[in-house]
Amino acid sequence: MKRFNVLDAAWALEVPGERLKALRRAAQPVREALLASGPVTALRCCPLVTLPYPTTYAFSGAALSPAPYVQLTGRMGVVQFNDWEGQARTLLFNPSDVERGGKTPFYANLAQRYGTFVAGRLLGQVHGTVLSHLAELGLGVQQVDYLAYDHLHLQDVRGWLGAEGIPGVFPRAQLLVDRLEWASTRELHPMQVVWYAPEGTRGVDERRVVPLEGDAWLGPGVALLRTPGHTLGHRSLAAVTDRGLFVFSGNGVATECYAPLQSTLPGLRTWAERMGCEVVPNGSTLESSLDQYASMVLEKLVAGPSSVDPLYPNVLPSGELTASLLCPGLSPTFSLDPPSQGAIRP
Ligand SMILES: [Zn+2]
Repeated sequence: MKRFNVLDAAWALEVPGERLKALRRAAQPVREALLASGPVTALRCCPLVTLPYPTTYAFSGAALSPAPYVQLTGRMGVVQFNDWEGQARTLLFNPSDVERGGKTPFYANLAQRYGTFVAGRLLGQVHGTVLSHLAELGLGVQQVDYLAYDHLHLQDVRGWLGAEGIPGVFPRAQLLVDRLEWASTRELHPMQVVWYAPEGTRGVDERRVVPLEGDAWLGPGVALLRTPGHTLGHRSLAAVTDRGLFVFSGNGVATECYAPLQSTLPGLRTWAERMGCEVVPNGSTLESSLDQYASMVLEKLVAGPSSVDPLYPNVLPSGELTASLLCPGLSPTFSLDPPSQGAIRP
């Protein structure tokens, strides 16, 4: 696994404004290095679930709407690549165990407040499961080498990796996770508790966990970039395809949150102008809001402009704003087609 020294040096700067400036400078060489390393062998994006999410968090209070909730769609990325030794590898990015994750206090409370009938309608849009998507792609569980998440909100990995009394579905897979994100789940701060699945990592064999310190450049065309903010241990997936370099992140909920001056979502553009901000963070936790802003700038510069409309960057939110009758007026102005690359090899 390689690291980007230029990003390490930027993150090491203490003053937030200097850090942001250094990250801006570092983004271009990182983007060029990733692109020059070539595309991943294969990539698919598989929709898992659409969930309600408070409007005020989604846009850090910038959107003007009476709708209390927007709908976000979570996707799993299936990435096949060669590692630096030339070994073919399969990575699942954001493989959410929707059933176990439903016990996350924020969503369990919502179900309790609105009753199971309404909450069922609000919460019940499952598009597919990790295992149904793998079966469709012709992949067996023993072929999965790595699991990784942008962050561990709502995630319960015990069913995948195994834990005391719970058999694991993936016999070989290792979890690539930011050291701090993993450690956070071991001793949650009261302000973190509502967003994490209770005991979602408890009893997992530590030998199945690979804690990451800096960026993890996994192989040609693929990296897990260190992008703290939404959580302190947040990571973004950067993947090169024939359609360009895509970045998948939980720091923003819509591509236009990375280009708010283009947004027709009520309030976003004026908020960005008034605040002098070029990104609108996903603000449920704000574990580190200055870093989240810097990470979003880094993400959009590494991703580069979309080939469909260069006014928007190639950033795909891992929980993406989805048009819904439940939140009229809050349909995305622009959505990227999730990329698809090569043929998935069993
Ligand atoms: Zn989150």
